[in-house]
Amino acid sequence: MSGRRDFIRAMLALSAGASTVGLAGCSTLSNRQTPFKTGVVLDPLFYEHDMEGHPENAKRLTAIDKELEKRGLWQKLVPVQSRKATEEELLWAHSKGYIDEIAALSDHGGGLYNPYLGDTYLTSASFEAAKMAVGSAIELNLAVYDRQIDNGFGLLRPPGHHALENKAMGFCLFNSDVIAAKALQKYRGVERVAIIDFDVHHGNGTQDLTIDDPSIMAISIHQHPFWPMTGGAEWIGEGKAKGTNVNCPFQKDAGDLTYLQVFDEVIAPKLAVFKPQQIIVFAGYDAHWKDHLAQHLMTVQGFNDLLLKIKGAAQLLCDGRLCLSLGGGYQLEPLAHSVAGNFEVLLGEPTMPDVIGKSPEIEVDYSKEIAELKKQHLRVHRS
Ligand SMILES: [Zn+2]
Repeated sequence: MSGRRDFIRAMLALSAGASTVGLAGCSTLSNRQTPFKTGVVLDPLFYEHDMEGHPENAKRLTAIDKELEKRGLWQKLVPVQSRKATEEELLWAHSKGYIDEIAALSDHGGGLYNPYLGDTYLTSASFEAAKMAVGSAIELNLAVYDRQIDNGFGLLRPPGHHALENKAMGFCLFNSDVIAAKALQKYRGVERVAIIDFDVHHGNGTQDLTIDDPSIMAISIHQHPFWPMTGGAEWIGEGKAKGTNVNCPFQKDAGDLTYLQVFDEVIAPKLAVFKPQQIIVFAGYDAHWKDHLAQHLMTVQGFNDLLLKIKGAAQLLCDGRLCLSLGGGYQLEPLAHSVAGNFEVLLGEPTMPDVIGKSPEIEVDYSKEIAELKKQHLRVHRS
């Protein structure tokens, strides 16, 4: 159990320091013997956003924590100081009215955001937790950009990819990834950031907030048609941003082969043209075949192989600058194994064998759909 205790001690030591990023001397806090310096951010407030019986609950973090502990990964990671986003930072993606609405709902003890839909909840701590998730995503991304760490993974809750300018939905309150991308631009003068979203649901909030922004490429692989019913391939970006929105929609029973093939044939070439200076990944694991919230057939091994490809693209295009934030994944065992495996990939360590294995269902071959997507995006570049 010493790894987790060391990590918490390191976090407390950082909290006591005056530095904003708080990473000075961090490498001495971990007994790192891995090729890559991988950061992690986790804050006790992320556990305070919780609802018994809801799929997006705090037990998800507990399961991840235990698996990282079991594999001895905590002591290999560099703790990054969490912090709350300022209102100014939240305003880069959300309206003042919406921010005030979330604050007021939390102040009144929380409850369901929209009682008619019932999907997104708040507790009295959710506003503070959501601000902490956004601010921590910013700090992690800045630490990666500044090369204090090679890459990082924010174990952030509540998640963000469905959050719109004026509306919470799909368990999401504030869009951490979009705000982190804007922070790289505003605080470091970065010109191009790519967000890759492999959560099984379309990242409609991320698309909506970046659809006319040529400086952020939003890429999503997802089940479609499926909730939230957005994410068709025809959404390629608007005006000067044409070509910077990349939807990779697949019907049920898409699995490892499809995700890996669409990365190679569509996403990697799009990234090569766009030349991001940092890659942010909304890492959702609900495409796993055991997850009940969707019908894709990804495996733990598939998530590791996919991240290895993303990491390779980051090394080729932006000196390895890569930052993950936690998305979906609602079956605790596959979630914990996938997250731990992805940490191993980030660290450059061999991954543990996938003990959960493959689905008994047969994966559908989506090669034709991938060829169509490829043609469509080539047309965008020629037009
Ligand atoms: Zn999802």
